[in-house]
Amino acid sequence: MEKNEIYRRLPRVDSLMKEKETEELVKEYGYDCVLDAVRRALDAAREELGYCAADAEEELAETLGRSLSGIRNKIREILCRENRMNLIPVVNGTGIILHTGLGRAPLGREVLLHAGQVTGGYSDLEFDLETGKRGERCLNFEETVCRVTGAEAAMAVNNNAAAMLLILSALASGGEVVVSRGEMVEIGGGFRIPEIMELGGAALREVGTTNRTCPEDYRRAVCQETKAFLKVHTSNYRIIGYTRETTLEELAELKEETGLPVIQDLGSGVLVDLGKYGLAREPMVQESVRSGADVVSFSGDKLLGGPQAGIIVGKKKYIEKMKRHPLARALRIDKFTAAALEAVFRQYLDPEKATEKIPVLRMLTRPTEEIRADADNLAERLRTSIRKDAPDGAEGARITVEECVSRAGGGSLPEQDIPSYAVAVDPADIPAGELAARLRRLELPVIGYLSGEKLFLDMRTIGEKDAGYIAEVFRGGEILRKEAR
Ligand SMILES: *Cc1c(COP(=O)(O)O)cnc(C)c1O
Repeated sequence: MEKNEIYRRLPRVDSLMKEKETEELVKEYGYDCVLDAVRRALDAAREELGYCAADAEEELAETLGRSLSGIRNKIREILCRENRMNLIPVVNGTGIILHTGLGRAPLGREVLLHAGQVTGGYSDLEFDLETGKRGERCLNFEETVCRVTGAEAAMAVNNNAAAMLLILSALASGGEVVVSRGEMVEIGGGFRIPEIMELGGAALREVGTTNRTCPEDYRRAVCQETKAFLKVHTSNYRIIGYTRETTLEELAELKEETGLPVIQDLGSGVLVDLGKYGLAREPMVQESVRSGADVVSFSGDKLLGGPQAGIIVGKKKYIEKMKRHPLARALRIDKFTAAALEAVFRQYLDPEKATEKIPVLRMLTRPTEEIRADADNLAERLRTSIRKDAPDGAEGARITVEECVSRAGGGSLPEQDIPSYAVAVDPADIPAGELAARLRRLELPVIGYLSGEKLFLDMRTIGEKDAGYIAEVFRGGEILRKEAR
């Protein structure tokens, strides 16, 4: 048979499109998508035939037979694959709570519910229910933030980087801002204090040294051009040893003398005392406000455990000035974020409840014994699951429970090793790296990490539902088999 003749045996696009099965697909995916999938499935079949030598009759016939019988499945497969979202949920087995790659803070159920209700219909986002007239955006949210932090006024923008940009642009553009050389922070992802300063149109006036900066250094730097003092929380590194840091209280005294505002970039916005849970103490927003900072900014999706946002709290006169700045309009948050932020801040009105309800805090403060029990439980379920329905009764992998270390992540609590427990999988027939890759390719991917020759799943960041799912994934040990899946 001629090769051209073989190609002609493949079904035509229009005849495939007319089939009943294809018509069903059109109802589900739409005509254009199905047409495209049909064309691509046929292209793939032609390509495969193209690989066969022109005189290899038997091979050609066999390949054609396979294409003909598989083409409808292929079309369905293409549609399924293309129809899957690219941004999808994953199971976090890394033990890194604020994993920037995995979306930082997960939101709690009540917060999502409220945000869903507000955004699924109309809301009073910029509407005054008393007067029936246009109102100011996000006032409800600001009231709650003030109650929790004790600040006079509050606002929120896209993220903390945006908050710093707005603060500097509104309060210090065209002038100088005094910053300690020990606080020239760079955060992952291209946020650097000197650069954000330049972008905000303010000149950086560095004072002190890397390890020591005293109030006198700040005082001496003040001149005609000075617009503000800036204190940056060194959230992702520590300077230890022979050090001297100028405190907010000391800067507040300078403020009395000079009338210049004190700005603080707090990084992670912590609203509960983490020291109570045996973790390193992070400066709390409430303390900054009490210590006399005029403007404090922090992230919504770090240790606060809310949606991505940059929250700014402080003196009313400064916040008002920022709200009137044109950048405020460009950097503003949307209604989904506004609703989620208010819901999270409301949970902080009762700090005890906050640590239960806010997933980030719950994971961070989970007792180690509880994690150990979860690990034992999942390990046992995995052993049973692998054996279940396994054709040859093979073990497939050695499952153990191991001590490990969780991290806060997101550049927070940089030195804190948080003891935890992991379920470790040591596959018998494939490298652990191959198992990790297979788990990442699941419809609901599971992200673990390699340690030694084993795949670790840290139970601190794995919930009850996730555990059940992981046990299902290992059912029959299929995922551990040597042959490629
Ligand atoms: C994380 C961080 C930022 C940036 O916050 P985003 O919300 O990620 O934009 C800025 N400053 C400090 C000190 C930080 O820790």
